[in-house]
Amino acid sequence: MTVELISVGTEILLGNIVNTNAAFLSEKLAALGLSCYHQSVVGDNEERLTDTLKLALSRSDIVILSGGLGPTKDDLTKEVTAKVFGKELYEDAHTRERIQEYFDRLNRKGMITENNWKQAMVPEGAIVIDNHNGTAPGIILEGENGKTAILLPGPPNEIKPMFENDIAPYLNRLQPEGIYSKMVKICSIGESRAETMVADLMEQQSNPTLAPYAKTGEVHFRVTAKAKDQETADQLMQPVLDELFRRFGNNIYTTEETVTLEEAVVNLLKEKNMTVTTAESCTAGLLAGRIMNVPGASDVYNEGYITYSNDSKMKLVGVQEETLNQYGPVSVETAYEMAVGAARAAGSEAAVSVTGYAGPDGGADGKPAGLVYVGCCVGDKVRVEEFRFSGNRNKNRDYAVVRALTILREELL
Ligand code: ATP
Ligand code: MG
Repeated sequence: MTVELISVGTEILLGNIVNTNAAFLSEKLAALGLSCYHQSVVGDNEERLTDTLKLALSRSDIVILSGGLGPTKDDLTKEVTAKVFGKELYEDAHTRERIQEYFDRLNRKGMITENNWKQAMVPEGAIVIDNHNGTAPGIILEGENGKTAILLPGPPNEIKPMFENDIAPYLNRLQPEGIYSKMVKICSIGESRAETMVADLMEQQSNPTLAPYAKTGEVHFRVTAKAKDQETADQLMQPVLDELFRRFGNNIYTTEETVTLEEAVVNLLKEKNMTVTTAESCTAGLLAGRIMNVPGASDVYNEGYITYSNDSKMKLVGVQEETLNQYGPVSVETAYEMAVGAARAAGSEAAVSVTGYAGPDGGADGKPAGLVYVGCCVGDKVRVEEFRFSGNRNKNRDYAVVRALTILREELL
C-alpha cells in the first residue's frame, strides 16, 4: 500500500515554518511498513491544491493532507478534497458540540465566531476523528475508487496525538499484517558500544527486526514485528525484549515510545519520594527546563539555581572562594561543592550540578572548550564525572544535560 503526503500552507512554501509534520509523518509511515514515494508542499490556493491532490490520488492509494483545516478563508483543504471526491459538506452535530465544549472549557464562550462553525462541516460519508487538542476534527474520506484521503490539522501538537491514537491504528487495520513496535531506550552506554553489544541480534533478525536510532547522548533501538494483531506482535517481540534486558539491564530506562529520559528520572524520584534541585553553570537552566518538561515535575522539584558567575556560585550554593581560586570554576571540586551546596540550599534529597566550558572558547585557565563536570549528590553520596565533548556550544550543552540526567538516574537506582 502506498501513502503520499501533501503539506498545505503558503507559509511552508515561503520558509516561514519548517515542515516538521512531513518529517513526523514519514517516520511514522515507515515504522508502519507503508511505502511513501512522494511528498509535496502546496500553498493555500484552490486550483493548485486541487491539481496536487488529483495527481497524488492518481499514483498513491492513500493521500494524507496536513494543514488548512482551520476556520479562516485561506483554509480550504476540506472544501477542495470534498470537491475532488464529489462529496457535499454537511454540519456534523457531534463536532459542533465538541467545538462548543472546547470554547466553554477555555472560558471563551462569547468568542466563537461564525467561521468557527465551518470546522464542524465534514464531507458526507467521511469518518470524523475527534481532535482532543483543538477544534478542527481529522477526516478520513474513503472514495469509491479505493482511494482514500486523510485530512489532519496543521498544528504539530494536534496532528501528532491524532496520528498516534487514531490514524496509525486505522492504517494498520488496512493491512493484512500490521506493524507494531516498541522503542527500547538506553542511557549510560555509547552508541557504538551498544550496537556492538547487539550486533548478533541485528544480523539474525527477520520478524521482529531490531534497528538503532541515534539520539543526543542516548541510544534507542526499535523492535518491530509484523503480525495480524497487537497480541501476536507482543508475543513475537517479547523474547527480543527479554534478551535486550539481559544485555543492557538497568541501562534501559523505558520501552515506551513516548517516555523520555527526564520522565523516567522524575518517575524514579516520585517512587523514592525524593526531591531534586539543580545548580547549573554552562547549561544555565537547560537541565531544569528538561525536568520541567514532565507534567507533574513540581512534585519532585521546588527550586534550582543558575550560577553562571563565580560570585553566584558562592552566594547561591555556597561554593568556597578558595575552591574557585585554587581549582577554578570548571573543576571536580567546584562541581562537588555546587551539588552539595544546592541540595542544602533547596533542602532537597538530591541535587545535580553542571559546570563547564560550552565553547567555542575554553577557559582563561587554559582548560578546553567541551570540558564539563557533572556533580550529583543523593543523600550522603556525592559523585562527580568529567566529560570532554567535541560538539559546538549548543550540542555540548545538550550533551551535558543528558549526562546529568543519566548520572542522576544511576545514583537514584
Ligand atoms: P489552524 O486551525 O491553526 O488554522 P490548520 O489545520 O488550518 O490549523 P494551518 O493553518 O495550515 O493548519 O497551520 C496552522 C499552524 O500549524 C501553522 O501556523 C504552523 O505553526 C503549524 N503547521 C502547519 N503545517 C505545518 C507543517 N507542515 N509542519 C509544521 N507545522 C505546521
Ligand atoms: Mg489555518
